[in-house]
Parts: sequence; structure tokens; C-alpha cells
Amino acid sequence: MRQSKKTEAFLFRLSWAGVNKMNFTSMSISDIQQGLAQGAFSALEIAQESIDRVAQVDESVHAYLEFTAEAALKSAQAIDDAIAKNTFGELGPLAGVPVAFKDNMNMEGTHTTCSSHMLENYRSPYTATCVERVLEAGAIPLGKLNMDEFAFGSSTETSYFGPTYNPWDLERVPGGSSGGSAAAVAAGLATATLGSDTGGSIRQPASFCGVVGVKPTYGVVSRYGVVAFGSSLDQVGPFARSVEDAAIVMNALVRGGSDHRDCTSQSINTDFTANLNEGVSGMRIGIVPAFMEAEGLDAEVKERIEEAAKKLEAQGAELVEIELPNAQAAMSAYYVLGPCEAFSNLARFDSVRYGYCVEGCKDLNEQYELSRAGGFGVEARRRIMLGSYLLSSGVYDKYYYPAQQVRTLITQDYTYAYHKVDCILTPVSPRTAFKFGEINDPTSMYLSDMFTISINIAGNGGMSVPVGLGSKSGLPIGAQLICPAFRDENMFRVAAELERCYGAASVAPAFAKVGE
Ligand code: GLN
Repeated sequence: MRQSKKTEAFLFRLSWAGVNKMNFTSMSISDIQQGLAQGAFSALEIAQESIDRVAQVDESVHAYLEFTAEAALKSAQAIDDAIAKNTFGELGPLAGVPVAFKDNMNMEGTHTTCSSHMLENYRSPYTATCVERVLEAGAIPLGKLNMDEFAFGSSTETSYFGPTYNPWDLERVPGGSSGGSAAAVAAGLATATLGSDTGGSIRQPASFCGVVGVKPTYGVVSRYGVVAFGSSLDQVGPFARSVEDAAIVMNALVRGGSDHRDCTSQSINTDFTANLNEGVSGMRIGIVPAFMEAEGLDAEVKERIEEAAKKLEAQGAELVEIELPNAQAAMSAYYVLGPCEAFSNLARFDSVRYGYCVEGCKDLNEQYELSRAGGFGVEARRRIMLGSYLLSSGVYDKYYYPAQQVRTLITQDYTYAYHKVDCILTPVSPRTAFKFGEINDPTSMYLSDMFTISINIAGNGGMSVPVGLGSKSGLPIGAQLICPAFRDENMFRVAAELERCYGAASVAPAFAKVGE
């Protein structure tokens, strides 16, 4: 018997809510859109209930730095108007989807603080292309998300506004630097979010929080309007609870092709959802023995990655051992190139053009000195000092120039490997989420990115997909999939297979029912 549209809508609502309140930020994109199309709920309901839930639940997670309730309600109204006019189908791929953005992305009218005292009072006069595209695709913006200061870090502990807590265990870090973006998705405080990744800042927090996180090939997503850390390394990408949701956000980000306001952006003619159901039969997947034997790799992480490889093999993929002989130098090259680029990018925060300003100084030099010393936190100052030293005359030839040569060698390693494989499988992080304060020397913190950094150096794509929980820690573990530049669909295809094996990411257990 066919049910009336009204009954269908009622049953849909019932199947989700159980009680009256819907938990929209815990739903998938397709469920949201199905519900909207059937009239089970309105976009205004999505916006209002999401804002209420986030405001209530985020007290314990602290993923958000700012809520954008007004913008959320405005977007929602536009969607409801389209539904009333029967033009819902013409809206973009994110119509009605609650999203949020890392706080280094400009969104007109919001603060864009980069979690720094330096930019505490900075308000965006314009909107970054990545944010604009997500909004144009119909998303409902809930707010701006916490991060390590200026994206320096792997734990979100360096935020001037206090850390974000891992929804799986509030005594642990969510990873970083996009910790707020990962935690928001893991706690069901947004359906999808955007983060940025310079050395691992999307993939590592995704792994720590048990969600999908994508760093696309360098250039696929425009960097216009995203506060720069390392311009040749930075890349924006989505966090979501399923591979399909992440693919839909990617589609929205690349819609419209390259962005003339970012000369490094390139168009990619891919439907990221197209091959998710193709399976991995016939695909060649690279395994890097040197990574699997790396010192510092926890046994429980190794165990899960080996298991993931076996599962892919069982689904028809061929496992191929490959070498990336120069990848071991990636960390050293990164901690030369990254600080050099950061040093020059952060020069603009001089208290005159932007940022925190100490008034009443005797001259401009004193104003620069006191404002920069007071505006930047410890890790930001460390990177600036390092960059200014490395780029100084006499020193430049010894470090910066060789680091660029190493960069070429690493890129060549990948190019060579891709003659033999379509995708590479590695761990994301050597371990699961650590406790606050547990890692307090910078060098150990830097090692969090030992498996992710070489991908930013080479510029190819990488993503983290959940592959279950650690047998010892009981905490989420992510597998990293790496693809040839501009073949990002390869890693999505493999990611979808892993998701079929392990199940889609869920909201962290403690938050699954909260706020309903
Ligand atoms: N953890 C690395 C760093 O501190 C990477 C950060 C990032 O990707 N933004 O530089």
C-alpha cells in the first residue's frame, strides 16, 4: 500500500526522533534532504533545533568559538521558500545541511580569530571561497570552530580561548589543529565541517575523533580568504561522519571550478560520489613497510591498519609493497619550510594593519615589539623565530634550499610509487588521542604528523577513515588513504569500501543521545 506524503513524512520523523525533538546535526546529508523533500520537517526547524542543541551540548566539548544563529535562520528561510515554491530540487547539494567552519576561514560579519589573542577582535569584511561555496550549495551555517593558534599544533591545546575536548573521552585532546572541526562532527554538533591541513591538521584530528577527514590534492580547493599558514602546503577539506557526506561536501567545494582569486587553485572535473559503490576489485593498494615498522607506531594502531589492508585484499584489491625512501626526511623538511612560510605570512599581523595593538608606545618599533609579543602565543612565537632565523642570510642556503630539494625528492618518490599503485594505505597517526598535557615538548608533538606530513610536501591527496577502535585504548583509529594528485576519487573509492567493512562513523557514544 502506498502511503500518503504526509504519512511518509510522519513515519520518517518518527523513525528519527523517537521523541519530539529531532537531532538534525546527527543525521546524514541524504536523510536531511529526504526529510526536507518529504516535508517531515522544515529548514527553519533544522536551524533552530541545531542552534539550541549546539548551544546546550557544546558547553562540554567547546568545539565552537562563535555561533551564527542569524545567518543560519536566514539560509533556512531561503530553503523553506524554495520548498514552498517547489524548487527544492534546484538547490545545491548541501541544501538544509548544518555545517560549521574552522576559525581561520573568513565569513563576512563573523569574527575570524585563528584562536589567537592577536585576532580576537578581528571581524571578517568578506567571505572565503570555500565558505562561500558551501553556503551557495544551501548549507545552514552554525558557527566558527576552535583550532590551534594559527593552525600550529596537533592537539588544539594552543587555542587562546581554551582547548576543545575529545567527544570520545573528555580528558583527551581531539587532535589538531582542526580539533574543533573534528569534535563538532564527532559529537553530532554539525553534519559536516571544514578544516585546513598543512601537515596533518585534518587527518590527525579526524583519526582521533573517529570521523572522516579529507585533505584534497593541493589546489583542488581555493585558499582565498583562509588565513595562510604555509601557502604551499595549506589545503582546505571536509570532516563528516560518512564517506558519502564528505564526497558531497567536496562536490560543493569544487563546483564552479578554479577560483581566479587563488592562483594556485585548479579545477577538477570529478563527481566525488560517482564511484563510491564500485568496490576495490582490481585496485592496486600500496603498503609502505617502512611506515608499518616505524619507531613510535603503537601496536594497536599497527594491528588495525594491517587488518584494514587484509579486508581490502579480501574485497579483491591487490596489495603491493612500495618504498618512499625520502619520506623519512619529510618531517625535517616540513619544520624548515613550514616555519619559513609561516614567518612571512604572519608578518602582516603587525598591530597596524591587523590585530592586537599595545597603545601608548614611544615609537612604532616598540609598538610592533610589544604587540607581537603580547598577541602571539608561545608556539606561534616559536615558529616565527624559527622562520626568521632560517631565512636569514647565510642560514638560508644551509636549510631552506636543501629542504626544497628534499621536497622534490619526496614528490618524485610518490610519482614513482604511483606507477605501481592507485592508492596507498598507511596509519594516520602513530597513536590514539592523548590526554591533555601528556605531550608537552614540541618535538614529541611534531611526531604526531609523521605519517601525514609528506603528503602536504608532495601535494597529493590524503584522507582519514575510521577503522574501528584500539584494542587497548578503546579509542578511534583512522587509516590514511593517499592518492595521486588530482585523482582524489581513487581514495574515496577505497574509503567507501573500508566504510562498508567497518560501518560509518557514529556520533561518539556519550553524545549520541544528549540533547534529544
Ligand atoms: N601539526 C602540524 C604543525 O603543527 C601540522 C599543522 C597543520 O596541519 N596545520 O605544523
